[in-house]
Amino acid sequence: MTVSERTRQLAALVDIGDPGTRARVRQAWGRRRVRMPRLRHRRGVRRSRNILVYHRVADVADDPFTLCVSPARFARQMELLADVADVVRLDQILTVGDRPKVSVTFDDGYADNLTHALPIVESLGIPITVFVPSRALGRDSGFWWDRLAETLCGRNEVRAALELPGAPLRVDARGPGAGRRVLHLLAEQLRSLPPTVIDEFVDTLAAQLGARSAAPGTGPLVPERAASQTQHWAPGNLGTATSSRARTLDVPELRALAASPLVTIGAHTTDHVRLRFRPAAEQHATISASKAELEDLLGVEVHHFAYPFGDAASFDRASVQSVARAGFATACTTVDGRVTRWSNRLLLPRRMVQNWDETTFGSRLEWWRIV
Ligand SMILES: [Zn+2]
Repeated sequence: MTVSERTRQLAALVDIGDPGTRARVRQAWGRRRVRMPRLRHRRGVRRSRNILVYHRVADVADDPFTLCVSPARFARQMELLADVADVVRLDQILTVGDRPKVSVTFDDGYADNLTHALPIVESLGIPITVFVPSRALGRDSGFWWDRLAETLCGRNEVRAALELPGAPLRVDARGPGAGRRVLHLLAEQLRSLPPTVIDEFVDTLAAQLGARSAAPGTGPLVPERAASQTQHWAPGNLGTATSSRARTLDVPELRALAASPLVTIGAHTTDHVRLRFRPAAEQHATISASKAELEDLLGVEVHHFAYPFGDAASFDRASVQSVARAGFATACTTVDGRVTRWSNRLLLPRRMVQNWDETTFGSRLEWWRIV
């Protein structure tokens, strides 16, 4: 049975409250198949509430952090979702209803949310919420993790002399996949640091590797030369089609996205800092400023927030208190789970979606009790 057939049949079972439903179900499934255990199971599904989280809708050759869903797969995922659930705005996810409810969210404000995701959701009438760090707009090379991936992926040798706050760091990795291994190790080390420190670190790494690739075996970095090559290197390495570039929305693009009646813009700190590792005052400053800055740019109130990185180790009690003090109505984590009537509206769980085909996405919908 295909997912579509199954979802159509399941959708037929959802409306149990309608007095004519049982008869219709008997007709559709045959008398013997309509048994109470099945109907009880469907009741749970009826009340299910889930928030999905995406980052990018783009075709890319390599996606080391699994942030991209291809446009074709995203379109199919949205079709399936619209088939089986009420896809609602984030502020409606906690309301009661007779069908499973799902909200679709995007983190980080990549430009492909406008160019690739919006046409698809508009064709299906699906509302989305896009969480944007207010000072990460108009970045041609995306975030530090995008630049780090571009710098390292595909390299079979990585040698660099770097510095993390308070400690020198020598990287010397060789062999197939060396760049990718270094990427994941460094990303884990870096993500708790202030974004300005990380950006500087990635610039230094790119400069050192750029210098070496231009003149292999020439020994230590010559800073002036590395700086000029960094500028040359960045666009050169992006290389492929525009749709695959990890570019963030610029201000006109953010306004164009926000102008769609289906789009809600939410805040995501000013610069995508890992909140838990910053002092409480700094956390409050970036959380409240991100709200004010987006409201200034868009001329509307911003009611929703998402914690950067979003896992339970990336925010703390001070973060949640600041989100409350700043006046947000909801805040989303990336902690896996479904929303229930008992969910804290400032700690909403979400479901991470990957570049899954129809079958895998369909089984996830069952796992999440959406069908
Ligand atoms: Zn994020």
